[in-house]
Amino acid sequence: MTQKRDYYEILNVNRDADEDEIKKAYRKLAIQFHPDKNPGNDEAENKFKEATEAYEVLRTPEKRQLYDRYGHAGLENSGSDFSGFGVNLDDIFGDVFGDLLGGFGGTQRSPKRGRSLQYNLEVSLEDVIHGKQETLHVPRIESCSTCDGSGARHGTRVVTCPQCHGRGQVSQTQGFFTMSRTCPNCRGEGEMIQDPCPSCAGKGLIRNSAEIKLNIDKGVDTGFKYQLRGEGEAGANGAPPGDLYVVINVVPHERFQRNQNDLITSAKISFVQAALGGRITVDGIDGPETLQIPPGTQYGTQLRIPNKGIPHYRRSYSGDLVVAIEIETPKYLNAAEREKLEEFANLRGELHDNDHGGFWDKLLGRNDEDE
Ligand SMILES: [Zn+2]
Ligand SMILES: [Zn+2]
Repeated sequence: MTQKRDYYEILNVNRDADEDEIKKAYRKLAIQFHPDKNPGNDEAENKFKEATEAYEVLRTPEKRQLYDRYGHAGLENSGSDFSGFGVNLDDIFGDVFGDLLGGFGGTQRSPKRGRSLQYNLEVSLEDVIHGKQETLHVPRIESCSTCDGSGARHGTRVVTCPQCHGRGQVSQTQGFFTMSRTCPNCRGEGEMIQDPCPSCAGKGLIRNSAEIKLNIDKGVDTGFKYQLRGEGEAGANGAPPGDLYVVINVVPHERFQRNQNDLITSAKISFVQAALGGRITVDGIDGPETLQIPPGTQYGTQLRIPNKGIPHYRRSYSGDLVVAIEIETPKYLNAAEREKLEEFANLRGELHDNDHGGFWDKLLGRNDEDE
C-alpha cells in the first residue's frame, strides 16, 4: 500500500488554516476533479476522493485534532466513525456548495420556485376616483393543464427510473468510499417520461396568456404596487409559483391635475364677478359643481369644493376639488359699458381719460392723430 499523503498537502493549505480556508481549498479541488466533469478519468477520480477524505477530516475539529497529533494512525486507531465506511457526500457538498449544488448530482433535481412577474398597468384618473375591476392579460409560464404538469401523455404515467429507483443518483462503492453520482439513465430526475404530453412536449409547463381580475382601489396613485401571490410563473418540479406584481401608473388627465388627493382645475370669471362675488358652475370630474365666489376675489385665488376630489385609499372621505380663479378683462367695451366704467372710476377717484385715448396710449407716447 502506498504511503498516504498529508491532508494539508492534499488541500494545499497551511497547518494553521482556518475552517474557511480549508473549505475554499476543497471547493476548488472538488470542482476541478469531480467525476461528473471528468468521466472515465481515474486519476481525477482518485484526486477527488483524496481531497474529499482530507476535507472530511480537517473540517471536523475532533478528527483534525487527532490527525494533528498522531497523523493518519490517529484516525485509524481511534475508532472514529470516519474509518471504514462511506462518507456522506451530500453532507459535505451541502456544506461546501450550498445552493450551487445543482450541477453536482448529489441530490435529485431540486424544485425551483416560479419567477415573479411585474405588470405595469395604466389607469385613468376616473378609475382611481371610482375604483374599477380590471382584467389583466398576463403572459406567463403555467403548469400544463393537459398533463397536470407531469409532462406525461394523458393516461400514461411518469415512471420511476429503474436504474436509480427514483433517487436520481447511483452509488458506487470503491474501497474506502461510497461515491454518489448523477443517475445517467434519468439525468438525476429520478423519474422518466416514456410518452410525453403533446401539449407541452413533456416539459409540464406551457406559455399562456392568463386572464386575471384585479380590483383597482379608489385613491391609488402612480407607483402603487399590488402583490398577487401565486400569480407569477409556475414553479418547476412541484415548487410553488412566483408572485405577480401589478404596478399602477395613473395617466395624466387633460383637464385635471392631481395633488395628493386634491383635484386641481381652473375657472374663468369676469372682473365684475370677482368684485361682486356670486355663484358659478365649474366642471368637476363627474359633472358640473357649484362654486361660491366671495366678493373681492383676486386673480389666482384657490377656492375649494370639499370632498369632490380623489377618495383616500381605503377611507370613506375624499380630497377637495381645488379651483384656481382666473379673472377675465373684457377686450372690447361698447359706448354704454365704457360710460358706466368711467363713472365707476370717477366714483373711486381713479385715473382715466375719455377724450384723448387711453391711459396706456398716453404712456406709450401714442395719440389719436397718428391713427
Ligand atoms: Zn403537458
Ligand atoms: Zn435514474
